[in-house]
Amino acid sequence: MHNNRRQFTRSALLATAGGMLLPPSLWAQAISYKVKKGDTLGKIATDLNTSIRELKRANNLSSDLIQVGQKLTIPTGNDTNLAGFSPIAMSNYIVVKGDTLGKIAQRHAISIRELKAANNLSRDLILVGQNLRIPRSAVRQTAPTEDLMAKVRAGTASIKVQRDKWQRIVVHHSAIKYGNVEKYDAAHRLRGMQNGLAYHFLIGNGIDAGDGEVEIGPRWQKQQAGGHVKNHLINQTAIGICLIGNFEKTHPSKKQLAAFTQLMDWLQGVALGRKVNFAGHRELKGEQTVCPGKHFPLALMHARYD
Ligand SMILES: [Zn+2]
Repeated sequence: MHNNRRQFTRSALLATAGGMLLPPSLWAQAISYKVKKGDTLGKIATDLNTSIRELKRANNLSSDLIQVGQKLTIPTGNDTNLAGFSPIAMSNYIVVKGDTLGKIAQRHAISIRELKAANNLSRDLILVGQNLRIPRSAVRQTAPTEDLMAKVRAGTASIKVQRDKWQRIVVHHSAIKYGNVEKYDAAHRLRGMQNGLAYHFLIGNGIDAGDGEVEIGPRWQKQQAGGHVKNHLINQTAIGICLIGNFEKTHPSKKQLAAFTQLMDWLQGVALGRKVNFAGHRELKGEQTVCPGKHFPLALMHARYD
């Protein structure tokens, strides 16, 4: 009895999940990953939430042999569908009599340009019975892809970013589930840090700051060096982003990861105007820490930011 029910639940869940999943060919984006020393297909598959079989299929590999420096395409499935990566989901639509691109676009809340791009159409001509791919409209995307940077853009509009100063971005977890800029700023001052909060940005988890809320630290406001790593030299040139939470024990929320990728994109694309080195705290030489915790998807972020 018990068994039966479990089986039923399991297949019901699978059915639901299957209904939401699209075949890999319909994901508009895939993540690219560069093979590092010590990597195996198995390790990469585990780190990036995929399987060896999927990896081999996505890269047309006939054996398990990979080489350092080799670029792999990482199929993006349900679990890798993190906010910032959000592969564009597509649905299908069959053209009926009376349809125009304009009507179809309007009905799906997308632009004619988006519709044409998704279908490689160079002209406005469509035919009855023609199968069109409909990219999911940005306005209908779920919560994690909402704009979490509005406050940051407004709050930093008057800051003159010292673009040459910043050479890398280091991600941290706070290792406790409580906190926000105000609380950590006070705590770091008590620890003798005159400039207060050691990080430049904090990303809240819904307890003391909003879930996915990006808070700007006073050091970013003043373009001051951070105090977030042990190495003094690195602190001079590294922007510190800290997600609130202990990711040795829990996972960052979807909104936190969305906020992180949006902040990374904004920092590199707008504030600094260039790509800089990206690292998890523990990856820096001599830091002896588990930060940002085993549940922070560091490999996935490297796939995006390296
Ligand atoms: Zn750290």
